[in-house]
Amino acid sequence: MNVLVINCGSSSLKYQLLDMTTEEVLAKGLVERIGIEGSVLVHEAPGQDKVKLEQPMKTHKEALNLVMAALVDPAHGVVKSLEEISAVGHRAVHGAETFSDSVVIDDAVIKSLEECSELAPLHNPANLIGINACRELLPNVPMVAVFDTAFHQTLPGEAFMYPLPYELYEKFKIRKYGFHGTSHKFVSQAAAELMGKKLENLKLISCHLGNGASLCAIKNGKSVDTSMGLTPLAGLEMGTRCGDIDPAIIPFLVNKGYTVEEVDVLMNKKSGVLGVSGISSDFRDVEGAANNGNKRAQLALDIFHYRVRTTIGAYVAAMDGVDGIIFTAGLGENSTTSRAAICGGLKYLGVSLDPVANSKRGEATIISDKDSKTTVMVIPTNEELMIARDTLALAK
Ligand code: AMP
Repeated sequence: MNVLVINCGSSSLKYQLLDMTTEEVLAKGLVERIGIEGSVLVHEAPGQDKVKLEQPMKTHKEALNLVMAALVDPAHGVVKSLEEISAVGHRAVHGAETFSDSVVIDDAVIKSLEECSELAPLHNPANLIGINACRELLPNVPMVAVFDTAFHQTLPGEAFMYPLPYELYEKFKIRKYGFHGTSHKFVSQAAAELMGKKLENLKLISCHLGNGASLCAIKNGKSVDTSMGLTPLAGLEMGTRCGDIDPAIIPFLVNKGYTVEEVDVLMNKKSGVLGVSGISSDFRDVEGAANNGNKRAQLALDIFHYRVRTTIGAYVAAMDGVDGIIFTAGLGENSTTSRAAICGGLKYLGVSLDPVANSKRGEATIISDKDSKTTVMVIPTNEELMIARDTLALAK
């Protein structure tokens, strides 16, 4: 059974076609600059040369049409006809309190997704465009929505409520939702497998450290706290996002003459590692500059490591202990030095790293040594596979 996974952004579209009997990726690709000049589709299938198609794509539907054509193309396609696609899984960002799990898409789900758009104005409308275009092109194929927020719907009240007037929750649904749920869920399942233990008996902390970054406390397989909030701006320092700051800074800046929109852009696009270092939002550039003695680059990294380490401490408190710590996403999977810097302050948890294992890349590995009281792991995340697994389970 082949499952197509679609992840639609406002001007981009990522896809993967997976054969779910083996969980093998048959083809994957990326369309960029949809609706603007220079639209391009890059399609890849294992064992074949990359195909690059540059032609105008005014809408997501046009882009999807070309994706479908690439999948069935006699030269570089991987299926004979679209009938070989049994189900489509869509990444959906915000499911609010309406969706605590993945769901088969019907008209009622579309309506609820539209209602959730207010909470994720940059993401949900793009997801909906992709869903609607796919439903038009493949009207008889079951479609499933898999939400970034759903895994965190198990958070207890004390973790998800902000201590604001309660009516703001009732009126506007202001609360912590959390994101990266598909990734945290995937790596927690893989960690239990790697540890040879049952997920239901484990206390895990998952560190998704990429351009966007969040931590998640997972007790007995359920998310009990996470560092992002109502929006993905909260929590850790990120590539360009400030994470948690004193909220009084916002009216302070407004009183200094900034508009609310300017403060919003400043916090989302000009802060974090970029804002502190003044160099780049890309951790590789900042690590390089710090290695060359740049003090602000080093400070940006120190803040990042400090926040990850202290949030780990908070989640140990939330779960009354921890059995395993997981590193995942771009930086978490690749930066030996960041993992060592973060774990260097976890001696109270009995963490000790194996430097040889910590230098490996690209595979699920235990990087703590035999004597470590807490198991530390690197697990490459695979959100597409998680979406395909949920889609398969529901489409069946
Ligand atoms: P993601 O958002 O998961 O794609 O992660 C992107 C971030 O991971 C970027 O800031 C990259 O600089 C960072 N990253 C990727 N590879 C490395 C590496 N080898 N060392 C340090 N950071 C890396």
